[in-house]
Amino acid sequence: MTGPATAANARDEHPRVEVSGVAVSVDHYIGGRRVASAGTFEDRSPLDWGWKLADVSRGDAVDASAAVGAAVDAAPGWAALGPSGRGGLLRRLADLIDDAVPELAKVECADMAMLEESLRLRVLSRGARNFRAYADLAEAHEERVWTSGGTRNRVVRMPAGPTVVITPWNAPFMLSTWKTAPALAAGNPVVLKPAEWSPLSCSLLADLADAAGLPPGVLNVVQGIGEEVGAALVSDPRVRRVSFTGSPETGRVIASAAAANLVPFTGELGGKGPFIVFADADLDAAAAKAAAMYDDAGQVCLAGTRLLVEAPVRDELVSRFYAHVDRHVLGDSRDPATTVSPLIHPEHLARVAGFVDRARARGDRVLRGGRVWRDGGLWYEPTLVEPAGNDSEIVQREVFGPVLTLQTFAGEDEAVELANSTDYGLSALVWTRSEARAERVGRAVRAGTVWVNTFLVRDLTAPFGGIGISGIGREGGDYALDFCSDLKTLQILEGSTDREESDDG
Ligand code: NAD
Repeated sequence: MTGPATAANARDEHPRVEVSGVAVSVDHYIGGRRVASAGTFEDRSPLDWGWKLADVSRGDAVDASAAVGAAVDAAPGWAALGPSGRGGLLRRLADLIDDAVPELAKVECADMAMLEESLRLRVLSRGARNFRAYADLAEAHEERVWTSGGTRNRVVRMPAGPTVVITPWNAPFMLSTWKTAPALAAGNPVVLKPAEWSPLSCSLLADLADAAGLPPGVLNVVQGIGEEVGAALVSDPRVRRVSFTGSPETGRVIASAAAANLVPFTGELGGKGPFIVFADADLDAAAAKAAAMYDDAGQVCLAGTRLLVEAPVRDELVSRFYAHVDRHVLGDSRDPATTVSPLIHPEHLARVAGFVDRARARGDRVLRGGRVWRDGGLWYEPTLVEPAGNDSEIVQREVFGPVLTLQTFAGEDEAVELANSTDYGLSALVWTRSEARAERVGRAVRAGTVWVNTFLVRDLTAPFGGIGISGIGREGGDYALDFCSDLKTLQILEGSTDREESDDG
């Protein structure tokens, strides 16, 4: 049952919890107001599982309906602002995000244990970039205009309408802005449901949207459990787009709910990226980057977690890799010296450990790590497994932890065959000094993004997404704006209208 709404926009009057010195609302943000649910769910810090952060409002079907209703009400006004009216507000929001980075970093570090320094220096400012990039793109869009068959034709982008955004617990603020920004820039009000394991930084996003002057109902944030309020949101027939990031398993469920209403769905799903090292590569650079796959405890969908190394350089690559892994420091994510954080949740730690235990039991060789680090904490040692075969579960399924596998290949064909041998296809890394090979292998590998001799460099105008069970649809640039729009073809019979009156320029 939905409780009474608190005073509208009353940042100071509304009850908040303090997280690392930052006041955070634990309630929904619906129609420009903070709204509490009768029920709550518990949010704990992975830094210290005894540290309870908050009891967060546990949204239900009534809250979901209220949030979609607020988005429906806000839709005409938001659409009428046009790209530049919306762009001005979204750029103001971006500026406020930049100003709030230190507070956001403290809260997200406590909530999901991502390294505070990397949040502060790198990850959170991407949230601001997301809003600026889409404000710019929506404004710069030029309608396609041409003449054929005696008609003047024009492709018009119309806002699609209320959009539900569902996001995962890793990098929650950045990933939520990545999906929210194109929807808002395209003219769609959003209902965002962050993951229940790291809900707090998205509550701060609601405050920032409020402070930026986004009209009530344009951005709504609903907290709660996926199977409860999340399921209610994605099956509401008033919703016109569903944009999801998370696991392939949940993606299937949500895609089915959207399909029942014939609503377009986009899903950025899991990854099991190959990390291909050819003998001609800069082996030290490759080894250093491979060791960096343990950053954020490996909880990164884009990580290249299957090391595929050309056989003659296997030992050299591994010894250089170990030298880099030795420099990793497991510890408290608030400490700048720490490079490997704890995992998000005891259930996730058990899941990661289960993969390695089953691998060991079936005859895969654990070359390094393979244990929980320090009883009572949520750290798992950086782990390298040499599988008995390519069909091993640990090769074929996403672990989403600090676990890499090691396999060798002989020549390009086998490298590509191994790279393409899972059901996933989100990202891949290729290390070689040969331009021709980079082109050949880069084209042959089945993945939405292939990085050659680098990693995580992103141009926000480029398409981004997965193949196979790694995703449906493409985000990034105009691809996301098209997804968030209904495209209309407007055809006017040439010579049938008075140019002066009909030409809107
Ligand atoms: P998840 O699929 O368990 O949950 C994601 C979100 O879906 C959460 O907010 C959850 O509450 C919600 N949800 C669950 N069931 C639902 C339902 N029936 N209806 C509506 N919502 C529901 O994923 P996770 O464990 O939070 O995140 C990890 C996964 O996300 C990994 O597979 C990772 O690779 C993937 N991921 C992908 C990308 C990408 O860009 N491709 C980025 C980050 C994470």
